[in-house]
Amino acid sequence: MSKYFITGGAGFIGSNFIQMCINKNHKVLNFDLLTYSGNLDNLHITSKNTNYSFIKGDICDKDLLDKSLNEFRPNCIINFAAESHVDKSIDNPDNFINTNIVGTYKILSSSLDYYTNLTEDQRRIFKFLHISTDEVYGSLDQKGLFDENSKYNPSSPYSASKAASDHLVNSWNKTYDLPTIITNCSNNYGPYQFPEKLIPHMIQRCLSEDYLPIYGDGKNIRDWIHVYDHCDAIYELTKKGIVGSRYNIGGSEEKSNIEIVKEICHLLDELRPSSNLKSYKELIRFVEDRPGHDFRYAIDSSKIQNEIGWKPKLKFKEGLAKTVNWYLKNKDWLDNIKNNKYKLTRIGLR
Ligand code: NAD
Repeated sequence: MSKYFITGGAGFIGSNFIQMCINKNHKVLNFDLLTYSGNLDNLHITSKNTNYSFIKGDICDKDLLDKSLNEFRPNCIINFAAESHVDKSIDNPDNFINTNIVGTYKILSSSLDYYTNLTEDQRRIFKFLHISTDEVYGSLDQKGLFDENSKYNPSSPYSASKAASDHLVNSWNKTYDLPTIITNCSNNYGPYQFPEKLIPHMIQRCLSEDYLPIYGDGKNIRDWIHVYDHCDAIYELTKKGIVGSRYNIGGSEEKSNIEIVKEICHLLDELRPSSNLKSYKELIRFVEDRPGHDFRYAIDSSKIQNEIGWKPKLKFKEGLAKTVNWYLKNKDWLDNIKNNKYKLTRIGLR
C-alpha cells in the first residue's frame, strides 16, 4: 500500500486520480484550498472510505504543509493544485502567480524538509510528482510535435506561471536532490471537469439552449486525452518513473475546437434532442478570439510509452460519447455549480 499526499485533489484531475488510488487500496490525504474549482462533491463516492482523508489548506501555507506531511508521512507527493484556467489568468494573473509559482516553491520547500528527515530506505522509494501542461511549450503551426526537449515558450499568464513552476521543480532536483518527476500533459476531458473548460462548457450551454461561443474561427487545435488515461500515466510514473526526468503525456487525438463542438451537438441531438431546435448546431456563434490564443498543441508521448509501457486506452470518439453521457446523468452536479453563483460568462478579453 502506498501513501499519496495529493494537493488540489478536489479539482477535476486530482479527484479522478484520488478515486483511482482509493480503488487500488492506497491511502490518500487530499490537501486542497477549495477555490471556486475545488469541489468536494467530486469525491462523494470516495469520501467515506477510511483510506481517504482531507485537509482544507493552501499550498502557500508552509507551516500547515509541514504539519500535514509530518503527520501523514507519505511516500509520494503529487502537486495537482493550481489555478488552471487561461481566460481567468488574462483577467487576473495574481492568483496564478501566488498558487502556481509561490505555492509550488512552498510545497517543494516543505517536501524537501520532510524528505531530508526520512530514513535511507524511505528515501529510496519517495517521489515528488509535479503535474504540468503542454502549454509551457507555446504554440505549434500545422506540423510537428512537442517532445521533452522542446523549448519553453509560454504565451499566457497561466502557461508562464506553470513554466516557472516546472523550472522550480527541476532546480529542486538538481540543487537539493529532491526526487522529482514533471509531467506535461495535453488537454484533458472527462467526468467532474469544471464547466469553464471547453467540453463541459459547451454541453452545459447546449442543455440551457444558450448560444455556443467559438473563439476566432474555431480552427485552433488541441491534443485531447481522457482524464482516466492521464491518471493511469501518473500512477505508472509513481511506480516506474525515473526521478529527475520529465514526461510528456498526450492522447494523440488532435481536434479543432469547432470539430469538438459539432460532435457534442451531434451526440446531444441523438441523446437529448431539443424540442425547439432542429440541431444544437444552430446555437454556434463565432466570437472575438482569446488574446494570445495558441494555434496548435500536439504531444509526442513516445518517451513514456517506451520507458514505462503506458499508452492511452480511450479513443476520443468513444471518450467524448461517455463524457456527454456522464454530464447528462449528473446534471445535478452541473446545476450545483451554477447555483453556487459561478458565472459562466465570457472572460479573458483585453
Ligand atoms: P482544477 O482547476 O479543476 O483543480 C485545481 C484544484 O486546485 C482545485 O481543487 C482547487 O481548489 C485547488 N487549489 C487551487 N489553488 C490552491 C491552493 N493555493 N492550495 C491548495 N489547493 C488549491 O484543475 P485541473 O484541471 O484538475 O488541473 C490540475 C492540474 O493539472 C493543474 O496543475 C493543471 O495545470 C494541470 N493540467 C491540467 C490539464 C487540463 O486539461 N485540465 C492539462 C494538463 C495539466
